[in-house]
Amino acid sequence: MDDCIIVGAGPAGLTAAIYLARYHLDIRLFDDGQSRAAWIPESHNHAGFPEGINGKVLLRRMLEQAEKYGAQREEKRVIHLERNADGFIVGTDDATYRARSVLLATGVVNRRPEAMDDDLHDEALARGLLRYCPVCDGYEVTDKKVAVIGTGTHGCAEAEFIRTYSRDITLVSPLPKHDFSDSCDRKVRAAEIAAVDGPIGNFAIEGECLAFDTAEGRMKFDSVYPALGSDIRSELAVQAGAECSKDGCIETGDHLETSIPGLFAAGDVVIGLDQISHAMGQAGVAATTIRNHLAEQQPLRR
Ligand SMILES: Cc1cc2nc3c(=O)[nH]c(=O)nc-3n(C[C@H](O)[C@H](O)[C@H](O)COP(=O)(O)OP(=O)(O)OC[C@H]3O[C@@H](n4cnc5c(N)ncnc54)[C@H](O)[C@@H]3O)c2cc1C
Repeated sequence: MDDCIIVGAGPAGLTAAIYLARYHLDIRLFDDGQSRAAWIPESHNHAGFPEGINGKVLLRRMLEQAEKYGAQREEKRVIHLERNADGFIVGTDDATYRARSVLLATGVVNRRPEAMDDDLHDEALARGLLRYCPVCDGYEVTDKKVAVIGTGTHGCAEAEFIRTYSRDITLVSPLPKHDFSDSCDRKVRAAEIAAVDGPIGNFAIEGECLAFDTAEGRMKFDSVYPALGSDIRSELAVQAGAECSKDGCIETGDHLETSIPGLFAAGDVVIGLDQISHAMGQAGVAATTIRNHLAEQQPLRR
């Protein structure tokens, strides 16, 4: 019986692993290798790295720190979570584990433009031609020519947000026609954001730009932000019966406990600012609450 099983080894899961291992608790850390942080070519808003830090390097350093205190990342996808009288049953493809508490740090997955192949996607991302997080890297597109691929309330809000960095913003619909409410339409016009219909396709890197076809012909941009939403990896929480919001984020209290006692969640999978700092902060709170929750069940003494 483990004290805690952490599902997910992104910034949230790894921070929790560092804290829990340093509390001398017996933990397991399962991960299926899809951290959003691994997509970050260079983060410039993560405090403590004035020259910026690559996402994979950050993850590696956090894992090294967790390993120093005895935590081990196991490359496994968790497919089953169930609460029983003693705690939790956690299932992977090939084995079943038991734990007194569980932390879900399973993150979200950004939806990609459908018409873009994987190699092009990865190269455009690495070169900053494709970006997913204006809160993270809007500063880097200051005064550049930028496209937002999206429509509706979400697309409009993203384009308006990026408008604070550049005058040259085009909101391109992934569909044949934009789908705007009157209020969206007014906001887009007031902000002088160009609205272009789709469909979109034939993505290619041309010089220092990302180019693609639209209803108004081929267009090129210094950076493109897909605003196509994301898939929340909260399926294990749902399976265990924990409450989730309408859009699928796990609901927690201030100390990151879900509606199921002993089941905690942290990071992007919980509603909030989808940022590394937030994921780490939540994980620190969750790990300490887990420690206190276990200590209430039986004294933690050496
Ligand atoms: C292109 C890009 C740039 C970004 N830039 C920045 C930036 O500059 N600054 C910043 O603060 N944030 C940035 N972010 C956001 C940041 O990456 C996320 O906020 C952060 O990674 C969230 O951490 P997390 O641990 O909650 O989730 P994740 O990092 O996504 O980790 C979740 C982990 O859980 C694993 N997992 C999920 N389900 C299972 C399962 N069933 N079994 C096993 N494992 C599972 C996944 O494989 C993954 O490894 C950026 C994001 C993107 C996409």
